[in-house]
Amino acid sequence: MNMVLLGPPGAGKGTQADMLIKAYGLLHISTGAMLREAVKEGGELGAEIETYMNSGELVPDDIVTKAVTERMNKPDAADGVILDGYPRTRIQAESLDKALREENKSLDTVLYFKTSEEVAVYRLSGRRVCEKCGKNYHVVNIPPRVENICDKCNVKLIQREDDSPETVKNRLAVYGKRTKDLIVYYNEKGLLNEVDGDVQAKKLFDEIDILLKKKGLIENDDSN
Ligand code: AMP
Repeated sequence: MNMVLLGPPGAGKGTQADMLIKAYGLLHISTGAMLREAVKEGGELGAEIETYMNSGELVPDDIVTKAVTERMNKPDAADGVILDGYPRTRIQAESLDKALREENKSLDTVLYFKTSEEVAVYRLSGRRVCEKCGKNYHVVNIPPRVENICDKCNVKLIQREDDSPETVKNRLAVYGKRTKDLIVYYNEKGLLNEVDGDVQAKKLFDEIDILLKKKGLIENDDSN
């Protein structure tokens, strides 16, 4: 199954993707995570990407699409992927359609996380990240066992540069200008499923699980 998670920054797409891959074993492709890796690797391209990310702007379509299609063509993506943070523009959505077609694959569903700005800002401003393993926490909603320390790696958590209040404001504005259109794009294709991005993660996961089973996209293993 190939699935796109669509919604504003702070909608909880990454958290749901983690829960979905644990439950169904699909490959998680997060363009944000891929781009952060490219920044860490440095070089000219890394520096260029960093400038866009730190201001909350989108990285150019061709750079992101190349990275995603290369990743999707690796053998471990054969059984399906969860695309988190991609596509974010109409051009990217069309590139994704084309790339899937060329591999005789298709997009099975799009989950649109309808999320209020208030909830998105609250989640992003309280988000803390482990620099080593990339695990996300929230100071109130998902606190680590020891304050500000990663449960797994035992290293200090950081606040992402682009989670600063000014950049968050711009990221949400960029979403409104560049990405929101995709709701119409996927609705017209009959692929869009709206879910409530404001609710707590476990409740939303249960809702998604029921939805995917109803659509026959994952096996219904309830024996009773
Ligand atoms: P995220 O982790 O999904 O919030 O992404 C963090 C940042 O990475 C975004 O604000 C963009 O600068 C960049 N980014 C992630 N995905 C894309 C994409 N599909 N197209 C362009 N830029 C992206």
